[in-house]
Amino acid sequence: MENCIFCKINNREIPSYKVYEDEQVYAFLDISQVTPGHTLVIPKTHVTDIFEYDETLAAAVFARIPKIARAIEKAFPEIEGLNIINNNKELAYQSVFHSHVHLIPRYSKDDDFKIHFGNHAENYTGEELAAIAEKIGKQVN
Ligand code: AMP
Ligand code: ZN
Repeated sequence: MENCIFCKINNREIPSYKVYEDEQVYAFLDISQVTPGHTLVIPKTHVTDIFEYDETLAAAVFARIPKIARAIEKAFPEIEGLNIINNNKELAYQSVFHSHVHLIPRYSKDDDFKIHFGNHAENYTGEELAAIAEKIGKQVN
């Protein structure tokens, strides 16, 4: 897609630090290096976000994630964890609108990555949770 920075990276119109590629995906270092080894995996086909994937493209991209994760672990045996993040739309911190998956190696509690999961379990009854699950579930097709 024209004017898409990650399409340009995939087409070698702008440089990147390649980690892995095959016919379906391209993986390269995130320039911000939130932690050392921070890698992005993109589909070579332009899709904006998770809502645009079909199952074939999703299978291709997400099937590659574990082997790239293992490669990071082998390259940095000192890592103690790995966060896999996929931001979708601006409110959810997406800033590049060619879908990508972040693989962020974790070295310690004090490395420069933070995530916060609020816990609101006490605000819901079992019936309310069942209604939410049903509301989503019936839209899956
Ligand atoms: P997100 O905020 O989830 O959309 O992530 C976009 C990521 O792309 C950010 O972490 C940026 O550091 C990264 N990024 C932007 N431009 C480049 C580039 N030219 N090469 C590598 N990473 C980039
Ligand atoms: Zn693109």
